[in-house]
Amino acid sequence: MLALFSLPDHDPELAAAQLDMLSDQVPLMYVILFSNAVTLALTHYRYAPKYLTIALPAGLILICCWRFGLWIRWRHRRAGSAVAAIMRIRSLVAAAGLLGSAYTVWALCLFPYGGPYLQCHVEFFMAITIVCCNFCLMQVRAAALLLSVVVTIPFIVFFILTRQPVLIAIALNMFLVTAGMILAMLRNHETFNDLIVSKRELTKRQQETQRLSDENLRLANLDMLTSLPNRRRFFAELEIVMSAAAQNGARFAVALLDLDRFKGVNDVHGHAAGDRLLTQIGLRLKRLAGGHIFIARLGGDEFGAILSDCQLDADIADFARDVRQVLEGPCVVGNRLAKIACSIGVAIYPQAGSTADELFERADYALYHGKQTNKGGVVIFSDEHETSIRNAARTEQAFRLADYEAEMWVAFQPIIDVMASRVIAFEALARWQSPELGAVAPDIFIPVAERTQLIGELTAVLLTKALATARNWPAPISICFNLSAQNLGSPETMAAVRRIVKASGVPPARIEFEVTESALLQDFEQAAAAIDRLHRMGVRVALDDFGTGFSSLGYVHRLQLDKIKIDKSFVSDVVHGRTAPAIIKTVVALCRNLQLDCVVEGVETEAQLRAVVLLGCTHVQGYFMSKPVAEEAVTRLVEKIAALGRARALAGIEPEALQSPGLAAN
Ligand code: C2E
Ligand code: CA
Ligand code: CA
Repeated sequence: MLALFSLPDHDPELAAAQLDMLSDQVPLMYVILFSNAVTLALTHYRYAPKYLTIALPAGLILICCWRFGLWIRWRHRRAGSAVAAIMRIRSLVAAAGLLGSAYTVWALCLFPYGGPYLQCHVEFFMAITIVCCNFCLMQVRAAALLLSVVVTIPFIVFFILTRQPVLIAIALNMFLVTAGMILAMLRNHETFNDLIVSKRELTKRQQETQRLSDENLRLANLDMLTSLPNRRRFFAELEIVMSAAAQNGARFAVALLDLDRFKGVNDVHGHAAGDRLLTQIGLRLKRLAGGHIFIARLGGDEFGAILSDCQLDADIADFARDVRQVLEGPCVVGNRLAKIACSIGVAIYPQAGSTADELFERADYALYHGKQTNKGGVVIFSDEHETSIRNAARTEQAFRLADYEAEMWVAFQPIIDVMASRVIAFEALARWQSPELGAVAPDIFIPVAERTQLIGELTAVLLTKALATARNWPAPISICFNLSAQNLGSPETMAAVRRIVKASGVPPARIEFEVTESALLQDFEQAAAAIDRLHRMGVRVALDDFGTGFSSLGYVHRLQLDKIKIDKSFVSDVVHGRTAPAIIKTVVALCRNLQLDCVVEGVETEAQLRAVVLLGCTHVQGYFMSKPVAEEAVTRLVEKIAALGRARALAGIEPEALQSPGLAAN
């Protein structure tokens, strides 16, 4: 029984929810009490003493008005604390008990005055008022029950004692209604409480879900290794800064930082050491973040920074200086200390681009250029960079639309055996005469062909043209043709190459394909398989640009190459350099031991020719002998070189003392 009168002291949230519901209902209850009391006082005014029709009701009405005012005030002011909410509910229960008793006493005191109508009014007043008040207090079980007890019990007892059958009947009716209402109220109270509890559970679960999703979001935007924001967060931030700048016209910069020689750390000390180094770098760069500077790790050894509100180039210089300063102290690499430097590429909004992607690409371009030309420095994307990007785009566009059959042709550069003074082969070199751009160098359009995945088609056209020319050459002269990395990696292109070779009518033994080390590096197994199939056809394979890449002798061995072409960079140093002659000599000796042919390319002067011949290299290629020529000039060139040899033989000149300004004039 006592539990029925308990208050939600232990559950402030429930108290608050009850208060919430009551804040509308209780004022309404006081309005009804007020008007019912006024009506009862008025009907009894002429029959009952004044203290019962004026003084007492006035007092009760004043208390109602005061309580009404309090509740109206509370309605706009939520209970600040749980204690306050519980206090309000307590005061409500107390008021229900006291006012209920007072109204009951007052109404029953009025009963003896007036006739049966007025007696019925008293009974009706009490019945209707209790029903109405119970209804309004439904959410606070203790208040509703207390009110029912203090009103209904005296009410029933009183009217039974009147012995008036009608009044007793009404009283019993009223008892049943109140009992029914209490039952309904008890159930309703449970439902209400359950509702509050489940709402609370729901809110708790929602908060937990929100917390988890916040955590997920945090992790999704964080780089695990360095705890810096990650690439995704970087681009989100870039979008935010960009749209703010688009509105207020502020200038800002995107800077990309790339550690110099990081790959070496990974290769030499292993990935774990690389990771530890990145963690150290991340921690140091974090010190620069904050205020106008946002720093993220974009992946690998690349970091990105957004310098918002960067007014002057001096701000960028300051940032670069700060980066250099924080990276300056030695880092632990493996079990050593090493100094780490980085290159920085910067793009400034709005000059370098108007979208996030554009700015990023431009900063990347500047970084790429920095790596090539100014390692460890800062390169700011400039108009010149813009021009070269435009040119590259124009070249790419023209290349995509080019008619290879009509616009591509092949030039031939002789490879000469200086001892025999004879052309042993011609290297086929691609030439593009674009109607729109004029002559474009292969160094420019071959990378474009690779980038656009059109190199396969181009190779097929060039090889067909080159072999069609070579077919007419005298028997001992071979043709050398360059294959790119992508060619070796594409089974379709390699199948086309084999078909073209077969159809050309040129004996495979007179065909040689040149591949570079970079081609082998991309996918060694695939390149090895492609080279193996070429060998099986009977063609020869040469390793081009030897000495510029890893120069692994393992390749030479595993791939059973036929020839090595020593890169022209060694020849340019052969006369005055110290290491180049030694390297050439070693490679020549190596080739001799492995029974490989060896060609030195890029011989531009007589002194160079003399030097390489003295180092033992008798197969040479270079501008000094002949620049690449058109197919019509091939036969003449072969004859001229043979004639020069004959003339020298007749004059008794030693081949290694070649003095042939005539050759260079070609
Ligand atoms: P590469 O295969 O190393 O070809 C030799 C390059 O050196 C040629 O440049 C040639 O003209 C140049 N050269 C020859 N003698 C000298 C010299 O004495 N001094 C100097 N400085 N250079 C000399 P080219 O024709 O501009 O070709 C450049 C590169 O383009 C080639 O280098 C090759 O990698 C690529 N390439 C050319 N044609 C083709 C082709 O048909 N297919 C593929 N995949 N690449 C090709
Ligand atoms: Ca070549
Ligand atoms: Ca070469």
